[in-house]
Amino acid sequence: MSGEHHVVIVGGGFAGVGCARRLAGHDDVHVTLIDRNNYHQFQPLLYQVATSQLASSDIAYSLRKLFNDDDNVDVKLADVVEVDPLARTVTTADGERFAGDAIVIAAGSQPNFFRTPGADQHAFPLYCLDDAQRLRSRVIGVFEEADRDPSLIEQGALNFVVIGGGPTGVEFAGALADLIHDTMAGEFRELAVEAAQVHIVDLGPTLLAPFSDRAHDYVAKVLGRKGVRLHLGVAVTEIGPGHVTLADGTTIKTRCVVWGGGIKAPALAGAAGLPQGRGGRIDVLPDLTVDGAPGVYAVGDVANIPSPDGATHPQLGSVALQSGVWAADNVLADFSGKHRKSFHYHDKGIMAMIGRGAAIAEVGAHRHELHGVIAFSAWLGVHAALMTGVRNRVDAFVSWGSDYFTKQRGPQVLDRSDAARIDWGEDSAHEPAGVVTP
Ligand SMILES: Cc1cc2nc3c(=O)[nH]c(=O)nc-3n(C[C@H](O)[C@H](O)[C@H](O)COP(=O)(O)OP(=O)(O)OC[C@H]3O[C@@H](n4cnc5c(N)ncnc54)[C@H](O)[C@@H]3O)c2cc1C
Repeated sequence: MSGEHHVVIVGGGFAGVGCARRLAGHDDVHVTLIDRNNYHQFQPLLYQVATSQLASSDIAYSLRKLFNDDDNVDVKLADVVEVDPLARTVTTADGERFAGDAIVIAAGSQPNFFRTPGADQHAFPLYCLDDAQRLRSRVIGVFEEADRDPSLIEQGALNFVVIGGGPTGVEFAGALADLIHDTMAGEFRELAVEAAQVHIVDLGPTLLAPFSDRAHDYVAKVLGRKGVRLHLGVAVTEIGPGHVTLADGTTIKTRCVVWGGGIKAPALAGAAGLPQGRGGRIDVLPDLTVDGAPGVYAVGDVANIPSPDGATHPQLGSVALQSGVWAADNVLADFSGKHRKSFHYHDKGIMAMIGRGAAIAEVGAHRHELHGVIAFSAWLGVHAALMTGVRNRVDAFVSWGSDYFTKQRGPQVLDRSDAARIDWGEDSAHEPAGVVTP
């Protein structure tokens, strides 16, 4: 070990990597970065892997490679199962224990199914690379199955139901509609691809709630043009092996339900015995430390980070990255006997893609609103800049260019045959059509 102070970081997402990068190069500090995956994943582009726009390798980057030149950063592949805040140790599933002068918990989130019956068994979450690959295989798999047996269309084979009208749901639904109409229609020449339907269901009255009313109208219009059906202001009451039922009595027959309905803190947040607030996230003080646990920080999605207006910062990549970097500065301040500073979030705006050539963005502190191709171009630039690795950026740009100009998708790979293996036996025989309205 090169340094006199040891920092243990749990999680190599935006927050953990931001923290480790800031500490890299400080010779008096040694960093151990632990993640259950050996890569850093770029979550905002998971939906593009699921809809065959990008390859998995475009949005994942080896953590060891990332810190190859940083002698004071060690990367460990392990699942952390316990954090002891008082002893300042973390323990992995293999029983290995790491002690630190500071512990930074950056373990992200997990899907929150809000106790919706059947959701954890039958819906596909979209939170990690494995989820995206599984979902991609399911999307391709139902087309292949329907091509072999077109009678399955009557059983909802080509109905896709997306739960949640936030960025995950909207971006996935828009990209899926493009995939269906522009790619699948040409490739499955004997299949009635025009029978395919994409539905978005959300409890709220609008899609992409944080945006303006004008943006809401624009999003609804673009999705409407793509044939996406909206079920707003209605709850999902049950997800079965072959259907989704809504509180207004609607039943949608489907073999592909995508869950973008919410997130909560991972189990580790509870296992640490630290104060938990909304969504089970760890409550932190303005300087990102945890009250009553000296030297323990929580950053990114796993933390409820107070904002100056009395609320908490949203679970966004930019908040995660900036809070990780800020925690590193406060850890260094601790080590050199200086005062920690309260986290200040530099809000550069929000944006979302709604499909090929269409996006919305609210840029800067004054929330200057952009729609359409300008927002689409801004989205491409921002996401390429945020990606890790030159090669990933170049590969992504080639795929985006190909998709935009030729409407051809690249990696339509059925690499998870287990995900695509669909049981058409149950839950399918009695209803006549894809959507039954009350
Ligand atoms: C589909 C999707 C789309 C999104 N789109 C956007 C967007 O457009 N713009 C935006 O700003 N934000 C977006 N977000 C949110 C953004 O991705 C998150 O806010 C951000 O990734 C949080 O970073 P993090 O480092 O806190 O957590 P994560 O990125 O989730 O990283 C957590 C890391 O911890 C590791 N880990 C977790 N538990 C353990 C454990 N017990 N042991 C070891 N390792 C562990 C995980 O493997 C992971 O690498 C999106 C999120 C999703 C899911």
